Amino acid sequence: MIRVTVWNEYLHERTDGIVKDIYPEGIHKVIADFLGKNDDMVVTTVVQDDPENGLTDEVLNNTDVLIWWAHIRHYEVSDAVVNKVKDHVLRGMGFIPLHSAHMSKPFTALMGTSCTLKWRDGDHERIWCLDPSHPIAAGVPETFVLDPEEMYGEFFDIPKPDSVVFMSWFRGGEVFRSGCTFTRGYGKIFYFRPGHEANPSYYNENVQKIITNAVRWACPTNRLAGITCPDVKPVEGI
Ligand code: ZN
Repeated sequence: MIRVTVWNEYLHERTDGIVKDIYPEGIHKVIADFLGKNDDMVVTTVVQDDPENGLTDEVLNNTDVLIWWAHIRHYEVSDAVVNKVKDHVLRGMGFIPLHSAHMSKPFTALMGTSCTLKWRDGDHERIWCLDPSHPIAAGVPETFVLDPEEMYGEFFDIPKPDSVVFMSWFRGGEVFRSGCTFTRGYGKIFYFRPGHEANPSYYNENVQKIITNAVRWACPTNRLAGITCPDVKPVEGI
């Protein structure tokens, strides 16, 4: 079984009527619900206001893939938690930051760049698949539309991805690398752009398919083979 933990800042769904109507129990609940339908996944949810920001050692030690949604409370996540998340990724935990988690502390720490971008509310997004043979693109059409969605535009200040699996085009003419893979240490990372809190994108079947595929792709290979990932440290005696 792939052990998935869905982490959510969980603020807008409690304080904004529009967002509350779309995600009455939180974005994390909707993501956990569609992932939980898969026989090979066991899904738990945590939120930022939980003790230790929801990421105790016990939670992290029992997580194969961590999904992260956040927007305006990044600075409230403790550095100790961020360091633990980064360490777990380097030792093999998969990491899937969604949408405005491009500015989350764990993602910027793993990228080493500002991760800034351009944005505008209420646009029309067309997503194109640029890497159809990638496992994350399995069963996803070559193009699909999300409308309305928030526009994210280049320049997106990230290191060069291992693969740009998806690219977005917006009616304003902007383009954006919206589905990017990276490896850090033993860990696999997939950043995926859609999911503005005021738009129902996490109910979209293609968005759900992509996140589901990404969980399977990001699950540590060693874990599926029954091998414990080693600590990332120099080999002694050489
Ligand atoms: Zn947004």
